[in-house]
Amino acid sequence: MSDADSFETALDGTWSDESDWAALEGAFDTDDAEAGAPTPVLAVVGRPNVGKSTLVNRILGRREAVVQDVPGVTRDRVTYDAQWSGRRFTVMDTGGWEPGLEGLPAAIAAQAEYAMTHADAVLVVVDATVGATSTDEAVARVLRRSKTPVILVANKVDDQRLMPDVAALWSLGLGEPFPVSALHGRNSGDLLDAILAALPETPRETYGATPGGPRRVALVGKPNVGKSSLLNRLTGENRSVVDSVAGTTVDPVDSLVDLDDEVWRFVDTAGLRKRVNFASGMEYYASLRTKAAIESAEVAIVLIDAGEPIAEQDLRVLTMVVESGRALVLAFNKWDLVDEDRRLQLDKELDRGLVRVPWAERVNVSALTGRSVRKLAPALRRSLESWDTRISTGHLNSWISDLVAATPPPVRGGKQPKILFATQAGTRPPTFVLFTSGFLEAGYRRFIERKLREQFGFSGSPVRISVRVREKKDRKR
Ligand code: GDP
Ligand code: GDP
Repeated sequence: MSDADSFETALDGTWSDESDWAALEGAFDTDDAEAGAPTPVLAVVGRPNVGKSTLVNRILGRREAVVQDVPGVTRDRVTYDAQWSGRRFTVMDTGGWEPGLEGLPAAIAAQAEYAMTHADAVLVVVDATVGATSTDEAVARVLRRSKTPVILVANKVDDQRLMPDVAALWSLGLGEPFPVSALHGRNSGDLLDAILAALPETPRETYGATPGGPRRVALVGKPNVGKSSLLNRLTGENRSVVDSVAGTTVDPVDSLVDLDDEVWRFVDTAGLRKRVNFASGMEYYASLRTKAAIESAEVAIVLIDAGEPIAEQDLRVLTMVVESGRALVLAFNKWDLVDEDRRLQLDKELDRGLVRVPWAERVNVSALTGRSVRKLAPALRRSLESWDTRISTGHLNSWISDLVAATPPPVRGGKQPKILFATQAGTRPPTFVLFTSGFLEAGYRRFIERKLREQFGFSGSPVRISVRVREKKDRKR
């Protein structure tokens, strides 16, 4: 098969599964209406024919997931409600991938990537009678980085004689293989116990945020930039800081602020309100505090003193925000001090100083006069919207294949790298994974990010792009 052919088939094989991706994405949008609270999600991944559907049926305790002897039959339903020992959880069956294609390892690695970013635990199934194939190894490579708990299941262990083959699966580096026979039910109760032990009580998608609660904002910047003045202005204009919002408890160090008919939670503002002035030498603690505020927020307003040259300290705060992956609004304060000369000068400084964050939302404000502070809320909303954006896998892949056709990646070592498949592995911030046949140069990755922003916006939000190169070994299969 030529490279061009394999490129085509890889795309065909993965694109035809759009319905599955849509269903996977849908699994996170719909709260379980019947029981109220959303349940933790267990994703089941693995290559075709290892017995995923049979195992899902076992877990569900009923014959709901259709199993057919034709390998890789696309199933129309992919999430199921399950229950064991009185605990409810959701099973996400990521089946329905066509076998035998060149692009299979890439597609299944993408599936694993998706699972580990979205599910609360990942069950990876391998066929003990076959042993670890290079596709299994590709999946294991992805999952070894997982912070989400991973349970390795050795399936088709219908009898004890297969135990040495089970032990051989330690080589995948995913810990102890759990032997089961999905077909006969052997060990499935123990597996369910292990699944419950791995799943958290509450699903990750709602972790840390009170669903529907105020969005969390960090107001940060170097000393004397006007943080406490701005906070006072924002709260003062509305006469009072909101004390409580139905269903939320406010950490005493936070302030609930009503801006533009919406309540926002400004995190870690106790120090600002008390106007704590850090003496020299305290800078280290100030910086720790800034970092903590950013980490507990969803979006940061970084205040910059427009009346002064952009300083090293401003850039350090910006770097913290970029590294945290939070949405960003740049507020140039003390705009009342900016005259025409200073404005021209500032433009030059910004070109140099803000190269890393050309995408940030910007507003020019004055905490002193109240100028344009009303523009903060719309800027916060826009950047959070970008931060939450999800692009469907089908849309992303058709866009990227047009882009690559128009401007292919530069040839390296006589080879033209191909982008086999792209998926958005997560939001907050939007995180994309490109599965490729070769190394993509940094310049080309930046080009993709720029084009992605031109097409989809993402104003005010960082965007992360990672590249997974398909290894040679997988190609030979
Ligand atoms: P999927 O493609 O990973 O969802 O795999 P299926 O659940 O469709 O199973 C593929 C084939 O393996 C079917 O013929 C199953 O009957 C068979 N199978 C599944 N689990 C077991 C098992 O524990 N033992 C044996 N011997 N066969 C199994
Ligand atoms: P913080 O250390 O970042 O909390 O900064 P403060 O709010 O304490 O402000 C530091 C100084 O800048 C104070 O003297 C404020 O009056 C002054 N200041 C704050 N905002 C503005 C502004 O928009 N314009 C002008 N001219 N001065 C400001």
